[in-house]
Amino acid sequence: MTIYRIPPTISALLFDMDNTLYSNEEYLRFQFESPVRRLAEIRNTSFDETQREIAEYRKTWAAEHGAAQGYSQISLGNVFLAFGVSIKETVRWREELYEPARFLKKDPKLRGTLSALASSFSLAVVTNNPVLVARKTLAVLGVEDLFGVLVGLDTCGVSKPHTAPFLKGAELLEASPETCVSIGDRYDIDIALPLKLGMGGILVDGVEDVYGLGNWGALRNL
Ligand SMILES: [Mg+2]
Repeated sequence: MTIYRIPPTISALLFDMDNTLYSNEEYLRFQFESPVRRLAEIRNTSFDETQREIAEYRKTWAAEHGAAQGYSQISLGNVFLAFGVSIKETVRWREELYEPARFLKKDPKLRGTLSALASSFSLAVVTNNPVLVARKTLAVLGVEDLFGVLVGLDTCGVSKPHTAPFLKGAELLEASPETCVSIGDRYDIDIALPLKLGMGGILVDGVEDVYGLGNWGALRNL
């Protein structure tokens, strides 16, 4: 876990979802491979070839944008956009393909942590997955009721890293950006822009780090 910035006053926590509120390699791999497989079918090419092209595209993108922006990772949604799949289409594919209940289950430890945090702060999920997938995921984990706001790929029609989803999360929680903390597992996607917006930022390695936030929050009297 890396704490980049904690604002003096905190009112809201904006959580990334995948590999933040749960860690599951198999499901994360599935979330990459299943839409890539569909893209390969549409382009009438092989999965391996499409995967190779995506890796190549990401490499080139990172080389071109990294130095200028200070971050170099591009989301899968934006990669698909470059391959001719609109955000709207990506949302539809994911809604059709992703079934979190196949991979995830109730997480009482996460619930305990988030319940403690929810007693002091408003909680939102800001994810590159569609709202429907987010809702299903939170329900499977047993924490759906703890989040007042879900911002998904279909809320703003853009993929993180983009200021819109973060600002939307703050707005819906009626929190000014300077009193929000963004918590996620990818610096370039979840942390870099929030820091520029004046938010706090905490980079986690997965849900284990999130479990620690309850104690850490209590100790620091956040
Ligand atoms: Mg993530």
